[in-house]
Amino acid sequence: MEKKINEIKKQAAYCLNCKTKPCKSACPLQNNIPDFIKCIKEEKYEEAFKVLTETTIFESICGRICPHKSQCEGSCVRGIKGESVHIGELEAFIGDYASENINTPGIYSNNNKKIAIIGSGPSALACCYYLSTRGWKVSIYEKHSKLGGLLRYGIPEFRLEKNILDKWLKKFILNSNVEIHTNTELGKDITIEQLKKEYDRIILAFGANISSKMGIEGEELKCVLGANELLEYGKFPDFKNKKVAIIGGGNVAMDSSRTVKKLGAKEVYIVYRRSEKQMPAEKKEIEDAKKEGIDFLFQTNVIKIINKNDLAQMECVKTELIKKEGETREYPVNIEGSNFLMDIDYVIMAVGSSPNKDVIDKLGLETSKWGYIKVDEKYQTSDEKIMAIGDLIGTKQTVAWAARSGFECAKNLTP
Ligand code: SF4
Repeated sequence: MEKKINEIKKQAAYCLNCKTKPCKSACPLQNNIPDFIKCIKEEKYEEAFKVLTETTIFESICGRICPHKSQCEGSCVRGIKGESVHIGELEAFIGDYASENINTPGIYSNNNKKIAIIGSGPSALACCYYLSTRGWKVSIYEKHSKLGGLLRYGIPEFRLEKNILDKWLKKFILNSNVEIHTNTELGKDITIEQLKKEYDRIILAFGANISSKMGIEGEELKCVLGANELLEYGKFPDFKNKKVAIIGGGNVAMDSSRTVKKLGAKEVYIVYRRSEKQMPAEKKEIEDAKKEGIDFLFQTNVIKIINKNDLAQMECVKTELIKKEGETREYPVNIEGSNFLMDIDYVIMAVGSSPNKDVIDKLGLETSKWGYIKVDEKYQTSDEKIMAIGDLIGTKQTVAWAARSGFECAKNLTP
């Protein structure tokens, strides 16, 4: 512990407390990073927590799993000539300190209004925290047996230990204004009509966890699995000594590859059609996957999956990266004649995700052409009693962006 505190103090001392706060501007939650680090320098940990709770309650979680290198740490002035301040580590330290040492936040007032939140991922929990501490009676409806949504059922244990999540939930979410209904799924166990009768408002926050498809031949084969469903339900086929390819370049692809490897797969490949530097996954996650023996096939596109006599193969093609006129991002274009076949036991799709269309269609709400629920700037859907937040409305799929929508939605109800 002593060693940990010394490291934390050293990191805090390394921060320049820049007046322009570029790290704050790059944070989706606009956390006041220079000010909370200044409090750490002065060993005022409770003060540091107070500064952070102006914009977040996810310190223990975001500190561990946010893509810091593309957010706050990516804009850190220290990073121009050397290494950025380890902002995530400092944030997690304060979150853990608070979980152990700081009293549960109180309830400021009661307004006798009832609200149902469907889902319990980061957007739902941010919203729940804000509303319940400001007097709303909040009922959370969660289809799984425990709270956490993506934090519990989408992020593997090696990235976020669930005892940290449990401690945090107990401290910051489970107050006397919050009622929990687990194993209760919208559309199966409860209907939107029932909820509308019982509550003043309803907030939909059940995420977008259906793995997207590539639209290629062979995707319907039994050997092709969705990354999101695998991570969510944890019902894995026997991967022992198998050869597995994961298609995609985000954190879900990294999480899937490392999970499959830990389950005993012999060879695990990440197949990504762009270059390594274009990968959306956190650099640390890519490095960790490499260390654990995952192989990477960059600039490789999968165009077909074939299954003949129990032998599955992927047909791949190499790509070149081309910059279109007036655009900054390079696009992968298949190189004619570079096709090759790869024997494979399982293919896991990690190329994005979308909301559950069956559930959404039954709600009768307006949706975008991509299947997300349409909301206005106040997170209001086409039904005046219903609001929607998080990945369901197409926010950038990170914990911090989801949480931001939860906080903003709650503030619109109780400024
Ligand atoms: Fe500190 Fe980096 Fe933020 Fe400057 S940009 S205040 S050095 S964390």
